[in-house]
Amino acid sequence: MGERGYAGLMAQQQSPAIVLRATEFGESDLIVHCFTREFGRLRGVAKGAKRSMKRFVGSLDFLAYVDLRFFEKKTSDLVRVDAATFRSQFPGIREDLDKLAEASLLAEIVTFGTGERETHRPLFDTLLRGLALIDHLPRWKPAGCGIGRMMEARVLSLMGFEPNLSACVRCRKALDAIRRADFSVARGGIVCERCAITERDLIPVGVATLKLLAQGLRAEVDAFPRFAWTSRSAVEAARILHPFAQVHLGRELRTLRFMTSLARAIGG
Ligand SMILES: [Zn+2]
Repeated sequence: MGERGYAGLMAQQQSPAIVLRATEFGESDLIVHCFTREFGRLRGVAKGAKRSMKRFVGSLDFLAYVDLRFFEKKTSDLVRVDAATFRSQFPGIREDLDKLAEASLLAEIVTFGTGERETHRPLFDTLLRGLALIDHLPRWKPAGCGIGRMMEARVLSLMGFEPNLSACVRCRKALDAIRRADFSVARGGIVCERCAITERDLIPVGVATLKLLAQGLRAEVDAFPRFAWTSRSAVEAARILHPFAQVHLGRELRTLRFMTSLARAIGG
């Protein structure tokens, strides 16, 4: 269809995109919330998407990885989504509740940690690689929870919220020289045993856990499955990262509640 048919629309744009959310709008439309590689996070209307199986069949589902084509509108922040063509649906994530919870958490962090229309290609590429990694893992436990925490730390770091894990935030003593560490959400990093005496609201965390997380901030995402996480380290990492994420995003992450009820339901 030529541009002439669309009054008030500007040139057509195209970008790889990950669908963050799609909500019904009126009789037949969907409002789609996407994280695109070229334009950052944006929202758009997919006209007739609820009916037009041919154009959008499943491609606007949560976490679908698509090629998005859309028109900018002169008068609105909402773009007009013209087509979304599948690149991947991440079937492994859809089949496994633990994987789905992890992927949802990352999507929620990106949703609330990025501004609309702020292009952030490294973040997009990292999220995509992380989703592909989670998708392909043959078994989730025990390594998966650790990979999830490494991804969480990495995504937060790319958004400008990097926890300080390499040295005491007060006296700069290096992690390698610290025997017993605590994490301070308020200070955004670790505190050594000496400085801990005068600090409040500290969360105890093992040095082994901190080393794993610190490596996760630097290593290639594809190398994450090689790190030897224990269940204990995964739990400790969650205990410091989840509150840290929520403080920086300024809100409660709904996926965390889902994760807690999931863990209770399966006794994990
Ligand atoms: Zn210290």
